Amino acid sequence: MLRIEGLTAEIDGKEILKGIDLEVPTGEVHAIMGPNGSGKSTLSYVLSGREGYEVTAGTATLNGVDILAMEPEERAAAGLFLAFQYPVELPGVGNATFLRTALNAVRKGRGESELDAMQFLKLARQRMTALSMPEDMLKRGVNVGFSGGEKKRNEILQMALLQPSMAILDETDSGLDIDALKIVSDGVNAMRGPNFSALVITHYQRLLDYIVPDRVHVLMAGRIVKSGGPELAKELEAQGYASVQAAA
Ligand code: ADP
Ligand code: MG
Ligand code: MG
Repeated sequence: MLRIEGLTAEIDGKEILKGIDLEVPTGEVHAIMGPNGSGKSTLSYVLSGREGYEVTAGTATLNGVDILAMEPEERAAAGLFLAFQYPVELPGVGNATFLRTALNAVRKGRGESELDAMQFLKLARQRMTALSMPEDMLKRGVNVGFSGGEKKRNEILQMALLQPSMAILDETDSGLDIDALKIVSDGVNAMRGPNFSALVITHYQRLLDYIVPDRVHVLMAGRIVKSGGPELAKELEAQGYASVQAAA
């Protein structure tokens, strides 16, 4: 399970996260919702270990292991997956090579053997069939000329290959159209099970029609001000964040 306690973090000396307490038990999918600028992306960056984000207090553990002390690639080997982890375009690097390198790095960290090109292709084809993805996506450069929907598909393929125990998906700024929403939600829903949890970060309720969360948390000004069941997302949709602010 992911357990965050009293997490405080700043960027450029400006405190953004002001004491986050959050638990996502194994097997559950939780959503974090909140208005623009509330710190949603900051939370996911801090958990991923992005440079420039300084943790000033608190802890975050995955299955009892301190993740904040780890390098980003160690976090991936520990079972954490960040959907925006590799958003870059890499002309000249084939997508298959890229995905295999990412998978083998994680496998190595887990003490598993590396997959050769043939073994990888077999596995990738299985996953791609399950996700209704065209195989030619493996042959192209990483994200080069990919549409928004294709980039999403590629991220979901990465997730399906890496088989993380905890996925964090920050969808706020990606302007997902309905097809991309379905790609993301089908991918997450296919992973759901007793050994997988996810934190789905979103500004809009819409995504949560497709990924029905076990719990919803509202983040405002760097703090979680309210938690509830999936109905909380509907309430927010109807009444807006101001209603929570007034009550908090
Ligand atoms: P959200 O994802 O909820 O929209 P963010 O985590 O992106 O919120 O931003 C939270 C706050 O941090 C905002 O007030 C934003 O202006 C500020 N912020 C984000 N990045 C930086 C940065 N690099 N330097 C200073 N302030 C930042
Ligand atoms: Mg934002
Ligand atoms: Mg954001």
